[in-house]
Amino acid sequence: MKKHNFYAGPSILPEFTKDKVAEAILDFAGTGLSVMEVSHRSKEFVAVMDEAIALVKELLKVPEGYSVLFLQGGASLQFLMAPFNLMKSKAAYTNTGAWATAAIKEAKYFGEVIEVASSKDANFNYIPKGFVVPSDVDYFHFTSNNTIFGTEVLYDPEVSVPMVSDMSSDIFSRPIDVSKYALIYAGAQKNLGPSGATLVIVRDDVLGKVDRPIPTILDYRTHIKGVSMFNTPATVPVFGCLQTLRWLKAQGGVEGIEKVNIAKANLLYGELDRNKLFKATVPNPEDRSRMNVTFVMTEGYEAFEKEFDGFAESKGLVGLKGHRSVGGFRASIYNAMPLEGVQALVDVMKEFEALKA
Ligand code: PLP
Repeated sequence: MKKHNFYAGPSILPEFTKDKVAEAILDFAGTGLSVMEVSHRSKEFVAVMDEAIALVKELLKVPEGYSVLFLQGGASLQFLMAPFNLMKSKAAYTNTGAWATAAIKEAKYFGEVIEVASSKDANFNYIPKGFVVPSDVDYFHFTSNNTIFGTEVLYDPEVSVPMVSDMSSDIFSRPIDVSKYALIYAGAQKNLGPSGATLVIVRDDVLGKVDRPIPTILDYRTHIKGVSMFNTPATVPVFGCLQTLRWLKAQGGVEGIEKVNIAKANLLYGELDRNKLFKATVPNPEDRSRMNVTFVMTEGYEAFEKEFDGFAESKGLVGLKGHRSVGGFRASIYNAMPLEGVQALVDVMKEFEALKA
């Protein structure tokens, strides 16, 4: 049976990426060796890293003066590397979910965190607006897509201080204006590749301004100087990321994939707004994530939750169980999810409605 993968991360990847990684696991670039066993300093692997960095720059139109890095440690390490490198005394954060909360916790080790807005009062089911970022903070940090709670900031905010964003779960899903950001970071395991690599885009001139000593491996300048090879990079994940970047370019880049992502989100939210059994947990259409669609059973139908889970699974829909802090369901419909996958989910929801409502 055809499986449709709705896991939140690690998550669905393009067939192209899987095929190319499978080939290279056995024979990488005609070397007769596996990509797992080739030196990161070999000319074949250096070419992989160089092309991956070049494609990130091309696809996101990264301006001059920025560095693109492939690091390890996940977005979670960036929660502390960002303040370690950028916070002199205080920074502003919005608290829009569990990952933003985790980022705030780490930042507090380095100075004062001003929480300029939070949506905790409504279990993070909206994006706060109209808040003021003080002009004397070292940077403003926000999470562009709240993977667990299904909300997304679908624009580049305007602030007068350097801006930092955790884009783990929506990077490459739409165009962004990189020039508005001092630092962008993202774990690879949603829109980019296998887990194990972390993408960082940093504006060079924001570095070197803090007084504290920074351990070598936690200093962005170390990795800029080493072209992401200060220490052994995550070679196989980076190889996987390169394949997805090539695939994305062939889809028309972020401009092309955004059209598909909008169509997918409209299809699924349209059904959630129509179907008697289900409702989206994010009421305001403007705040609804195009990547992680969170939904629950409507009043009176809650008892069918478990049954729907099994029903969907029996139809080949995998990974729909919602995060425990929201309950219900979450359909992660990242770049690699085709419209047909979302249509399959919508069909199953309609079928279940015909049985129960
Ligand atoms: N930030 C966001 C928005 C996420 O979705 C995740 C993981 O799902 C993380 C951070 C944590 O990433 P990692 O597991 O790569 O540390």
